[in-house]
Amino acid sequence: MLDTKPSKQAAAWLESFARALETADVEAALDLFREECYWRDLLTFTWNIKTMEGREAVADMLRATLPAARPSHLRIDGEPTVDGETIEAWFTFDTHSAHGRGIFRLREGRCWTMFTMMDDLKGFEEAKGVRRPLGVQHGADPDRRTWTEARRREQQELGRTRQPFCVIIGGGQGAMALGARLKQLDVPTLILEKNERPGDSWRNRYRTLVLHDPVWYDHMPYIPFPEHWPVFTPKDKMGDWLEMYAKVMELDYWTSSECVRAAFDDETKTWTVEVDRDGERIVLEPKQLVFATGAYGPPREIDLPGADDFDGEILHSSRYFDGDRFRGKACAVIGAASSGHDVSVDLWERGADVTLIQRSPTTVVKSDTLMELAFDVYSEHAIERGITVDIADIKVASTPFAVLPESQKALYETIRTRDADFYERLQDAGFAIDFGDDETGHMMKAYRTGSGYYIDVGACDLIIEGKIRVKSGSGIARLTRSGMVMEDGEEIRADAIVSCIGYHSMHETVARIVSRETADRVGPCWGLGSGTKHDPEPWHGELRNMWKPTAQEALWFHGGNLALSRFYSKILALQLKARMEGVDTPVYQPPGDAVSASPSLNAA
Ligand SMILES: Cc1cc2nc3c(=O)[nH]c(=O)nc-3n(C[C@H](O)[C@H](O)[C@H](O)COP(=O)(O)OP(=O)(O)OC[C@H]3O[C@@H](n4cnc5c(N)ncnc54)[C@H](O)[C@@H]3O)c2cc1C
Repeated sequence: MLDTKPSKQAAAWLESFARALETADVEAALDLFREECYWRDLLTFTWNIKTMEGREAVADMLRATLPAARPSHLRIDGEPTVDGETIEAWFTFDTHSAHGRGIFRLREGRCWTMFTMMDDLKGFEEAKGVRRPLGVQHGADPDRRTWTEARRREQQELGRTRQPFCVIIGGGQGAMALGARLKQLDVPTLILEKNERPGDSWRNRYRTLVLHDPVWYDHMPYIPFPEHWPVFTPKDKMGDWLEMYAKVMELDYWTSSECVRAAFDDETKTWTVEVDRDGERIVLEPKQLVFATGAYGPPREIDLPGADDFDGEILHSSRYFDGDRFRGKACAVIGAASSGHDVSVDLWERGADVTLIQRSPTTVVKSDTLMELAFDVYSEHAIERGITVDIADIKVASTPFAVLPESQKALYETIRTRDADFYERLQDAGFAIDFGDDETGHMMKAYRTGSGYYIDVGACDLIIEGKIRVKSGSGIARLTRSGMVMEDGEEIRADAIVSCIGYHSMHETVARIVSRETADRVGPCWGLGSGTKHDPEPWHGELRNMWKPTAQEALWFHGGNLALSRFYSKILALQLKARMEGVDTPVYQPPGDAVSASPSLNAA
């Protein structure tokens, strides 16, 4: 009979599990799992990002991966905790080629969720803490080269006389996080950014943009924001932080450098990457190519009937910077997600007369509510409880996507009760609200489509007060010289139209730079295959194509909000490092050729 103390139960369970794994006894391992069970693995067993759902899937994975993974040294890390019927325990372990960490959750003595992730590659651990570099060579040396001289030489050589192992296209926060990880792992990497300065990815966005996520969630790897940093970072401040980051982390970062083309040679296993560097054409030959060109692909241009008749200006939100020139003008903003709301507020603040055209219902949640109820592990309170950002990231990653809807639904039930009055007033103002096809709210929409939600930081009050008008529930029939006629016959005057309808999937950038064929073979990014709107089945259980092997050898995608970028940059960096060092990386269930149709991505 099992000991009832959680720590004893967890220790006994892990001991049995370790014995089963070390003796490759799959049946014995399976006996330790519940019928409904999940195992999410980041690289340690699968060299992939995979969630096995159910005992059959766990068994298949173990049979395929145990011979190479050879897990050992499984040890409980810290004190197990209890939450209702669930015991949660952290553990560490080794595989043949890596050190790993994990979290398992037991219910009624058997495993409900298992999470395993790679922490370090054996023999290639980051040189940190006691292993940090000395930074100086004591003694006398007539050929001494200072740090500045060595750094300058490295910058002069890389991409000119010495080829990088890895090229990252795009130099936003994603590329910088990944570049910093690769730097610590000694992987020669060049980042290509078409903008003039690191940080311009944020500076170039509209004037009033302030991050919607709080500071505790937004740290970059290695250099957290200082304690006095504001809760919400203004975009130019973010730009400056990133510029500092690129410099201090010694990233090899080429500005004014646009990647115009790339092709992979199957024989030599090398990319040919064409770069326009401030007018100079340079060809790079890396072994690995990462697309970090934005969480989304190119802007989706709007096709409005009668656009040629319209006298005013039509612009996409990606080209909207400042509402100043629209003072006193009538503006229609199409698309009622984050950008649509932010642009509407900016226009209103600048004295424009704004109508927000809502094409489909939006999930809205008040920022204050979210901060109180949803950021419990990323907060000042969490830090006081010893939950660092690393711990929080692992905890979040340890929850399989399949079980997220349940907790998100419960969260949204609380939110809807708490803010019932707010939602009622918003609907009374003509604004259409939804909470997703399955009532799971904005977070699931973010994973599934990256669109269709707004974290309210002020626009809703303007809508409720009628200062920003809303037109919802009717499509645009056609444009006229002075505005638009809606399908229900209503005419809306507009001197300018700002389209906030979002972006194409990231893989469309591959079509532009590599080829249509490659993009189609690789397929779209993001989305889980939930079968909800814009996230077509089949169910993947993981985000499509992000941070893991794709159907094109040596082509990777990286991106996401600051938190995803921070955590998964490590996972991607370890895969690149392993390939550089010739570590055997047998990928379990590599991506096939058949990929489902592209989900359209709406507003950011
Ligand atoms: C309005 C808005 C508000 C947002 N608010 C938040 C928030 O609060 N918190 C949060 O975490 N995220 C937020 N995001 C999401 C944010 O954009 C992404 O999280 C983030 O920008 C993604 O970083 P990235 O590095 O992947 O892409 P980006 O920051 O978009 O960087 C991509 C870079 O690639 C460059 N590039 C593209 N093609 C090429 C090429 N061919 N050659 C060279 N360079 C190229 C671009 O110039 C760009 O600098 C917001 C996004 C928008 C649009």
